Amino acid sequence: MASAAPARDPNCVFCDIVERRAPAWILFEDEHTMAFLDIFPFTRGHLLVIPKRHGARLTDIPFEDQMRLIRSLDEICRRVEQRLTPHYNVALNTGANAGQIVFHVHFHVIPRYGKGNPFGAGSRERLDETEARKVVSELSPA
Ligand code: 5GP
Ligand code: ZN
Repeated sequence: MASAAPARDPNCVFCDIVERRAPAWILFEDEHTMAFLDIFPFTRGHLLVIPKRHGARLTDIPFEDQMRLIRSLDEICRRVEQRLTPHYNVALNTGANAGQIVFHVHFHVIPRYGKGNPFGAGSRERLDETEARKVVSELSPA
């Protein structure tokens, strides 16, 4: 049941990011949601949009939080379109068999710059600090 979801999970890295117990390159934050760069980006600017309330999957969080999440996703997609590229994938992996490895609901926004497939094995390197700083400044409000 959606309302049964705990506000936070002590073993969840995304809850730690929300509480500033773990570092992240934060792009956006409001009372209920947050967006930050993925630590192993598929492409430049690959980011995650999350609700602050913990829930493993979209259907675990209250409907109001789902709506707030979509509103923040919209905001961040607009920034990507204006400042990086109009081409991007939005993905929501749900369940281990669907590729979910962090069980705190999150939308991926993955900018695409060319026709190449960035999702092949071995294409992900840990986020570089200099690059992260640049992407954060490009995606931050002017
Ligand atoms: P999933 O496969 O669960 O949809 O995606 C989880 C994403 O979270 C992965 O793309 C992974 O690189 C990212 N990730 C995992 N741990 C961390 C972390 O501690 N910080 C950040 N910024 N991203 C993380
Ligand atoms: Zn969590």
